[in-house]
Amino acid sequence: MVKKAAIITGIILLIAGFLFFFYVSMAEMQTATYDVLGLMNQRVYGTLGILKIVGLGIMFLGGLLLVLGFVTGNKEKIIIKQVVQSASQNFCSNCGKPITPEAKFCSNCAAKI
Ligand SMILES: [Zn+2]
Repeated sequence: MVKKAAIITGIILLIAGFLFFFYVSMAEMQTATYDVLGLMNQRVYGTLGILKIVGLGIMFLGGLLLVLGFVTGNKEKIIIKQVVQSASQNFCSNCGKPITPEAKFCSNCAAKI
């Protein structure tokens, strides 16, 4: 469930970030079109530049969440597998090596279980 939420949030953030970046870029282009004489305040370009970086940041965050959703999902699976494995495993009373529950003798030191 955590994995799914992270992936969905990641996708939404990616799309939102992309749209944000896209619209700011459009606004920037429009501003440049009207500003033929180059009289536009540098501050406007600065603000648009910052907004573009924010859009990219949102996209990056979305991508990160997406990757994390996949990676942690796999990690959780591996951890659960390990826990289940170790829970079903017994340990040799003689040498302490893990042994299968069905085993009658330790595979490491051959001690009777
Ligand atoms: Zn043993």
